[in-house]
This record gives sequence, structure tokens and C-alpha cells, in this order.
Amino acid sequence: MLLKARWFLVRLGVIALAPLAMLTLGLSAYLLAPIYTRVYFSDWRFWRHHRRFLPLTMHCWKIFFKLLAEPRYRRMTALMAGTDWFSPPRSGPNPSIVQVRGDWPHPADSCGECSRCCETIDCPAHDPDTGLCASYASAFWNYFPCGRYPASDAQIAYYQCPKWELRPLAQGESQAEPTGNGRQARGEQVIARQRSG
Ligand code: SF4
Repeated sequence: MLLKARWFLVRLGVIALAPLAMLTLGLSAYLLAPIYTRVYFSDWRFWRHHRRFLPLTMHCWKIFFKLLAEPRYRRMTALMAGTDWFSPPRSGPNPSIVQVRGDWPHPADSCGECSRCCETIDCPAHDPDTGLCASYASAFWNYFPCGRYPASDAQIAYYQCPKWELRPLAQGESQAEPTGNGRQARGEQVIARQRSG
């Protein structure tokens, strides 16, 4: 119970920085730069990331309007799932929910050349040249949807992910809320892809 309260409070703190930046059009990110970069990029050295402040602020506005305008997006994003706010941080998809497809042509820890999930929402944290995510393993990544993607069939369908599929349920098994902190992070897969690429 205490842990759930802690996870919820961390989430609240992490996400509160986003509307603050949105409402100040990025000014808060400059004023509190080390805090922002620690939370969103796992790095106190804000001078390395300040170029992303404005694009990410605008991206937050874009996601906000997307949530309002697109019921399909709203339904599938883990950000909107109530139970998710009390679940432990994760840095990879939950193996009790999803598995790598049998016809996936790359190693299980690689996304090959695919970046579809990042590109679909045009995420400014994703570097199209390197395939790396600047936010990987940050508090934002671990506590919000990136760290647990994909977490449902709807997410796989929305991003047309060619790698993951819903794990068939064993008889009597239910899809419990994610537990543990797996390390098969998509970010690691992206990094692996970059290394192998
Ligand atoms: S998780 Fe799926 S959609 Fe995202 S990069 Fe990997 S294979 Fe592509």
C-alpha cells in the first residue's frame, strides 16, 4: 500500500512538470532546468538537453489535443488507465501480457530498423538518425507509457507494431496488472538495434 502511494506520488511529481511547461510555454523548463532534465533525461546536466525543451513542450500540447480529439488514442494510452498510476515503474513490456511474435525476424532484444511507435507520434525525444531515445530509463520513461509499451493489444494495433503480440492467456489466468521491473526495455532494444545497425 505504501509502495503504491509512493509510485502514485512520483508519477504525480513527474507529470506535474509537463503542464507547468505547457502553461509557461517552456519557460519553467528553463527556470528549473536541472530538475526537468533529471526527471525526463536522467541527467542533471541541463545544458546538454535544453534544445529539446521547446519541442517537447509543444509535443505535450500536441498529445493533449490528441487525447481530446482521438477517442482511439485516448482509450489505448496507458497514461489514461487508472490502475497504471499505482503500478510499479517498468523499463520494458510485461512478459505476462505480451510476447515477441514467432515471425519476428530480429533477435528478441532488438527492434531491427523499426521505430514505428516513436515515429507515429513524432516524438522529439527520439533521434531518427541514431534510433535512440533521449528519455530512455528516465523517471518519465519508467513511470509512464514508454517504459511499459506495449501493454495491450490496442497499443500494438495503434502503432502497428510488427514485433509484439498479446500473450495467449493460460487457462484460468488473468491479465494482472504489471509487476516487477523487467529490463527488456524497448529503449534497450532500440540501443541494441543501434549497436547492431
Ligand atoms: S516496439 Fe514495435 S513499433 Fe516500436 S520500434 Fe519496436 S518493433 Fe517497432
